[in-house]
Amino acid sequence: MKYEAVIGLEIHSELKTQTKIFCGCATSFGADQNTHVCPVCLGLPGVLPVVNRKVVEFAIKAGLATNCTINQYSKFDRKNYYYPDLPKNFQTSQFDLPIAEHGSVEIEVDGVKKTVRLTRIHMEEDAGKLVHSGATIKDSDSSNVDYNRTGVPLIEIVSEPDMRSAAEARAYMEKIKSILEYIDVSNCRMEEGNLRADINVSLRPVGSEKLGTRTEMKNINSFKALEDAINYEIERQAEVLDDGGKIIQETRTWDADRGITLSMRSKEEAHDYRYMPEPDLPPIVTTSEEIEAYRKSLPELPDAKKHRLIDKLGLSEYDAGILTSTRAMADYFDKVVELGADPKSTANWMMGDLAKNLNAEGLTIEKSPIDPTRLAKMISLVEKGTISGKIAKTLFVEMWKDSSDPEKIVEAKGLVQITDSSAIEKIVLEVIEKNPKPVEEYRAGKKKAIGSLVGQVMKLTKGKANPQLVNKLLEEKLQ
Ligand code: ADP
Ligand code: ZN
Ligand code: MG
Repeated sequence: MKYEAVIGLEIHSELKTQTKIFCGCATSFGADQNTHVCPVCLGLPGVLPVVNRKVVEFAIKAGLATNCTINQYSKFDRKNYYYPDLPKNFQTSQFDLPIAEHGSVEIEVDGVKKTVRLTRIHMEEDAGKLVHSGATIKDSDSSNVDYNRTGVPLIEIVSEPDMRSAAEARAYMEKIKSILEYIDVSNCRMEEGNLRADINVSLRPVGSEKLGTRTEMKNINSFKALEDAINYEIERQAEVLDDGGKIIQETRTWDADRGITLSMRSKEEAHDYRYMPEPDLPPIVTTSEEIEAYRKSLPELPDAKKHRLIDKLGLSEYDAGILTSTRAMADYFDKVVELGADPKSTANWMMGDLAKNLNAEGLTIEKSPIDPTRLAKMISLVEKGTISGKIAKTLFVEMWKDSSDPEKIVEAKGLVQITDSSAIEKIVLEVIEKNPKPVEEYRAGKKKAIGSLVGQVMKLTKGKANPQLVNKLLEEKLQ
């Protein structure tokens, strides 16, 4: 391709505060329409907003976790526009003095690391939601407006146009999601709209420094839609340019069913919004001491955790990357290891049988029928030699269906490893007698031939013989 794609993301994340940003209404999702409302979030005349301290705290933490500078003097502004889901006819947001600026996060795609710069993070209120009578606005006779979401706190995280492919944009959004989960400021449930992105895409000739004209796709709320929309838009723009056309700066919508983007409206400029300082809210002043206290309160972040798993626990870069990709996964891993299990075995089980079973049933790790405690117990049964690694696979399947203690299942199902040599010896002799060919080969110096004999013994004992013991006995008897 003779063009280079340039991508910048504006990520909106709902913060998990109990109450809204400027009033005491609940933020919880899924309530009956217009039950979480009050004069303040409905924007009735004469009301005064009060900033929720938790929102400022969460926004500062998000800024610190993404290497931003925190602006000790920050303020709110009014962004004026008209839409039925916005009862005040302006959104209280931040314009020239956002809470955080100039950050960066690291991403990695196909083993290549890259830094994506953050322009800014600002706080704002979410708008309400239109509920159409039909499937889409076009085939609806009427629409209701639900103001429950009006005033739910948001942070908007704006990136520099530093990404060059759909895969990089996805890796960036995944990194932001995992950071927000780690610092526990957002539920990040994309299907509930907790986390959504506006994607800006432009093309430029390879080698050119100048940015091309961009289009913007709003409210993308899944990783698949993000990648598909970017890839589609890159192709569409390339075709337009190849035909000698010009890209129009506009807002387009992503139609997931048809897999295409459609023109929605021409792009608005900042001056269209008539930004003005919010007169009803005092500026937000944060001391350096407060900022340092927030910094100290941050937990270990994904990248730091990943490096700890590599450097201290000896995991591969790949394994460590996957195990730290979400907070839930990392917490699960930490718990199992804390309970005494070997980190490498834990990683193998989590990325192998556990991941496979979770995927097959469409479960997240929080809903795993095998919790960290039981997995740790199972791993310790292997380490103690009570069961073999092979039996552990069988035990895992049983544990998935049966919530009792692994020890109990081992007993009930008779899965205990046979470590009694006289019992194994009988089978070893039988196998030697029935398999003259590998025995012959082994005695002729082909030491590898013992493998198939070990396999036979394991088969006859249904995998319950201790493999080391089987090896030792076979070697003795073959002398
Ligand atoms: P808005 O879209 O609200 O007008 P900005 O002008 O700040 O706000 O840009 C928003 C996003 O668009 C940023 O993430 C920025 O990196 C990205 N962006 C700006 N110019 C381009 C471009 N030419 N190509 C791709 N992305 C761009
Ligand atoms: Zn309210
Ligand atoms: Mg934008």
